[in-house]
Amino acid sequence: VTRIPKVSDLVIRNARLIEQEDLVDITLRGNKIVDIGRRKRRDSTEYVDADGKLTLPGFIDSHMHLDKAMSGGEKKWTTNTCIEARKIQRDEKPKFTLEDVKERARKAVEMALTNGTTAIRTHVDIDGVVGLMPLKALLELKDQLSNWMNIQVVAFPTEPLTTSKTGKSLLRKAMMMGADVVGGVPVNDPDPKEYVDSIFSIAKEFEADIDLHIDECNDPKDLLLEYYAEKTLKNRYQGKVSASHCSSLSAVGNETALRIIRKVRDAEISIIVNPLTNLYLWSGNGRPNGVSRVRELLDEGITVAYATDNTMDPFNPLGNADMLLAALFLAYLKHLGNGTLTTVLEMGTNNPARITKMVQNYGIKKGGRADIMILDALNPQEAITRQAKRLYVFKNGRIVAKGGVLTVESEILDACAKATKDQRNFLC
Ligand SMILES: [Zn+2]
Repeated sequence: VTRIPKVSDLVIRNARLIEQEDLVDITLRGNKIVDIGRRKRRDSTEYVDADGKLTLPGFIDSHMHLDKAMSGGEKKWTTNTCIEARKIQRDEKPKFTLEDVKERARKAVEMALTNGTTAIRTHVDIDGVVGLMPLKALLELKDQLSNWMNIQVVAFPTEPLTTSKTGKSLLRKAMMMGADVVGGVPVNDPDPKEYVDSIFSIAKEFEADIDLHIDECNDPKDLLLEYYAEKTLKNRYQGKVSASHCSSLSAVGNETALRIIRKVRDAEISIIVNPLTNLYLWSGNGRPNGVSRVRELLDEGITVAYATDNTMDPFNPLGNADMLLAALFLAYLKHLGNGTLTTVLEMGTNNPARITKMVQNYGIKKGGRADIMILDALNPQEAITRQAKRLYVFKNGRIVAKGGVLTVESEILDACAKATKDQRNFLC
């Protein structure tokens, strides 16, 4: 029996789900998908006609740096290497203010949303220069933008932990302030292994998941992933750990790589690759690629996601927060043509949903979260190859972008302005 939708429902008619023959109607109510199936009776319910186009859950961008987005001015165009990018970023940081971080981050969120991303895991620098200010900015923004974007905040200590007096206490404070995930970059520490140990002990105090920048140097000598996997097992932290980048895995021989990949599998570590930033940084270094062994990881049953990483900052001045562009580059770099483009889209949707656990009931199914995009394409091949237009983006059951244009910007600005005013009143 077909339930007659209430007037407040919104129906997406003639949606084409991935690898399904028949078109379906999807009924949205509030932030939920309440019904999904063959053509419903046509009544006066508000509807959007998908016209047989590919309809997917919104992208989940599981690795961004919203605090750095659109920073670096003209200087950001002069970087060739990761070290240069870091230096420019460091010189810029004293200029950061709470309002400036929030404004740049909000603009990056708006770009991502327009591109079909409905949830973001962002790393946020915490260090001796900016302290916890950008983290505070992102936690506020997470709250203010919750109607339009799920934001998960990773506390990202960028300085040494083992030799610093304040590093660990700063990270603990960040977690107490409300950061969701423990992050970090062990290569910046004189003792990367001890750094990893410290990360596990702090994460366990807060029962938080971990997501470290691992082996981004794309250097066979720099290989911490194996130790990270061993520590994950030792700490019984399976299923709670992800490793971002893992570039060096592509720089070592097959035998070593396979040994490490199997440990990663046993430790149930997920891998998040960032093709755009790594390509930009490593082509400047004269080393190809810098993207991990995606095929081999997938073959071992490891959950692999890709993400956009940097948005118009010194690490990637070309970054545009577009998961479909990252999908195309990933497909190029890893030769993922032959029958694997559906998998590529999974790596930008369902896989990061599993990794981040940040969206309840993610996916196009009855009872699923109504975060949906309609692409101007019939299948994954067409979507990626033609960089299909995002015809509609729905967040929490509402249209937020249409034909590549954000339709809720004034609402977002109002929410931010109101929050700032409330805060000022509170401070008075
Ligand atoms: Zn990163």
